[in-house]
Amino acid sequence: MINVTELTKTFGKHQVLKGITTSVRKGEVVALIGPSGSGKSTFLRCLNLLETPTSGIITINDAELTNRHTNIGKVRQRIGMVFQHFHLFPHMTVMENITFAPRRVKGQSASAAREKAIALLERVGLADKADSYPSRLSGGQKQRVAIARSLAMEPDIMLFDEPTSALDPEMVKEVLAVIQGLASTGMTMLIVTHEMKFAREAADTIYFMDDGRLIEKTPPAQFFDNPQSERAKRFLEKVL
Ligand code: ADP
Ligand code: MG
Repeated sequence: MINVTELTKTFGKHQVLKGITTSVRKGEVVALIGPSGSGKSTFLRCLNLLETPTSGIITINDAELTNRHTNIGKVRQRIGMVFQHFHLFPHMTVMENITFAPRRVKGQSASAAREKAIALLERVGLADKADSYPSRLSGGQKQRVAIARSLAMEPDIMLFDEPTSALDPEMVKEVLAVIQGLASTGMTMLIVTHEMKFAREAADTIYFMDDGRLIEKTPPAQFFDNPQSERAKRFLEKVL
């Protein structure tokens, strides 16, 4: 579903991604881990062209993102992204947050968008918050609304960049549970996370990044019990 070949990204003189080659199959859940500054966010952001790759090829569903003739807007609609800070629209209710893009971008009717939003809110456990404003929600609730809002566009791929890093500890679980539920529906996902237990349980594949390179790409059990590289060993010693 996603193919990446020799992806590089340079900011000024700083090469942040140094040639990433990988592919993600439909339904695969990838947990992206690695030290701060290793290029995890930049990699995710290249996948939906929030950053323009310096070189390399990215294809998603056979559409080549890095070809300037590709209709990027169309491809991007198929990719949901959830950030550390939820980026909800503060002046809109939860319902309006969720229905805005489906109505505006996809031209859904108010009633169809609303029906869909209600189902999504049920799925993330917030059916009773449809008419609340974001300021009235906890961090965990906000993040679950952000996930529902992304899902309302019916993406094929979900990208999560540290979705629980801004949350108080007691709210981490409720958000991870929603993401794990999504994994079990067969959604293709890449998740940057520092939650090692979650990565181990939810991911099919661990990507370990260090200094702009994808150093290990292995099933969780092997990565956590028997990391191959010295850098991964050192990283795990610090975080486990
Ligand atoms: P991670 O998510 O693994 O912590 P990032 O992808 O955010 O790493 O950043 C990797 C490196 O790229 C860091 O050194 C960071 O300072 C740099 N970087 C990221 N975004 C930009 C930008 N827009 N301009 C300049 N440097 C950037
Ligand atoms: Mg980051």
